[in-house]
Amino acid sequence: MRVVFAAAEVAPFSRTGGLGEVCGALPAALARLGHDLLIVTPFHRMAQSWFSRHVHSLEEMTTLELHWAGWHTPIRLLRSVLPATDVPVVFVAADAFDRDSIYAGFGGFDDDLERYTIFCRGVIEACEWLGQPVDLLHTHDWHTALLNVYLESGLRQHPVFSRTGSVFTIHNLHYQGRYAGDRGAFLGLAEPLRARLEDHGGLNMIKGGIVHARRLTVVSPTYAHEIQTPEGGAGLDGLMREMYGKLTGILNGIDPDEWNPETDPSLPARFAAGTMRGKNSCKLALRRECGFRSRHSRPLFGIVSRLVDQKGFDLLLSELPAVLDLGAELVVLGGGDPYYEESFQRAAERFPDRVRVWLGFEPGLARRIIAGSDVMLVPSRYEPCGLIQMQAMRYGSLPLVRRVGGLVDSVTGWNGTNRNVANGFAFDEPKPIELFHACTTVLSTWQDRPLWRRLRANAMAAGFSWERSAKAYAELYQLTVEQSGGTA
Ligand code: ADP
Repeated sequence: MRVVFAAAEVAPFSRTGGLGEVCGALPAALARLGHDLLIVTPFHRMAQSWFSRHVHSLEEMTTLELHWAGWHTPIRLLRSVLPATDVPVVFVAADAFDRDSIYAGFGGFDDDLERYTIFCRGVIEACEWLGQPVDLLHTHDWHTALLNVYLESGLRQHPVFSRTGSVFTIHNLHYQGRYAGDRGAFLGLAEPLRARLEDHGGLNMIKGGIVHARRLTVVSPTYAHEIQTPEGGAGLDGLMREMYGKLTGILNGIDPDEWNPETDPSLPARFAAGTMRGKNSCKLALRRECGFRSRHSRPLFGIVSRLVDQKGFDLLLSELPAVLDLGAELVVLGGGDPYYEESFQRAAERFPDRVRVWLGFEPGLARRIIAGSDVMLVPSRYEPCGLIQMQAMRYGSLPLVRRVGGLVDSVTGWNGTNRNVANGFAFDEPKPIELFHACTTVLSTWQDRPLWRRLRANAMAAGFSWERSAKAYAELYQLTVEQSGGTA
């Protein structure tokens, strides 16, 4: 089955978070199951810079002019492969992607509607240029939602797309691609189709993917339920309830080779479930890096995250002095909303021997924190899946999570009796006092060393490999292709 994967970010070339990681790891896992994959992604400046730092093949395929609905723009197509696989990757290069960052702040760039329309047009062009029929088009998030609309608006006349089935994965329903209605002409859609993107008088790009894709997935089973409720639906819960029949939740995974404390070259020491001495060395080294000098045995809490409202750190900030009073230390790596960046920096200034904060996106430091911390804080207000809790568990750092979205599907909180299965800590309501109580449970569990070691062993044994997720996607592809009359 020929599967084309279209996404705004693909690791390791370009990524800002979970979307990029999933779109790098899932195709590799699908290829291992024998699928014929092609990835198409923008040639962001971040990807250009990746190629300038790595010796890795990159070939020019062609230069061409896109023409549609009275618009035109030049693009280049370049070809490479996903590292350590033979999965081909086609980059769509255009001036629109030659910018310092992939996105601008929270709202994105003002011209993202136009940039991602160009990208979607480029995906079509790449497939037509390669000339191989596409059995399944797998699109991700609002940036590529438009491809699902194009599939239903004449694209099927082209032999490459005549029997293409479509799967649209929503990694985060809150990012919808909303724009003023008068910009719709750029999409090049006939009026009845454009009307289907209409939402409160404007354009809502993710709606196009939701309505038109044959199958819809989100990145955890619990999130699939939550988005059908007014609290979790980001304004689209009614639509999600209508679409319920074609919606599936498939939990993301992590690559066990890439996330392996036994071999990770960025760690000062290595360890595995049976030999945990290296974990202590990682913690010692991290505490040194943080400048913490206390000799007491304290649990080291870590945060490695985008610092945005979604992640629930306001619940921690208001209780932070009390949590530190319990005897915890905190190390933070992240960036995003200036409010959180400044609040954490102020906390670090106020408690320099207990709190250390780094702002930025630094994969090596992220790994040292994941390995060196005892607890990873993930108190999200909502969480479609979350990868950080899985990475933390693999590195023997117990996640403290709010029971929401994919965190429900991946973490079993310690409840005082479930020592055989508990692999972290969890609380329910998004209230500071609940987070504080969960921290008191962490501290009392910390005193009971055999219990702590047991929960840590449970966490390290949890298997979140991509193979399980890839099999679920493969089954869904099969079903979709059969329904679309394509070749399986
Ligand atoms: P989201 O996709 O909502 O940002 P996830 O937990 O799904 O959250 O994925 C975040 C990914 O980005 C994880 O792999 C995490 O290790 C990584 N990450 C988050 N913040 C940073 C950072 N500041 N530096 C390096 N890696 C980070």
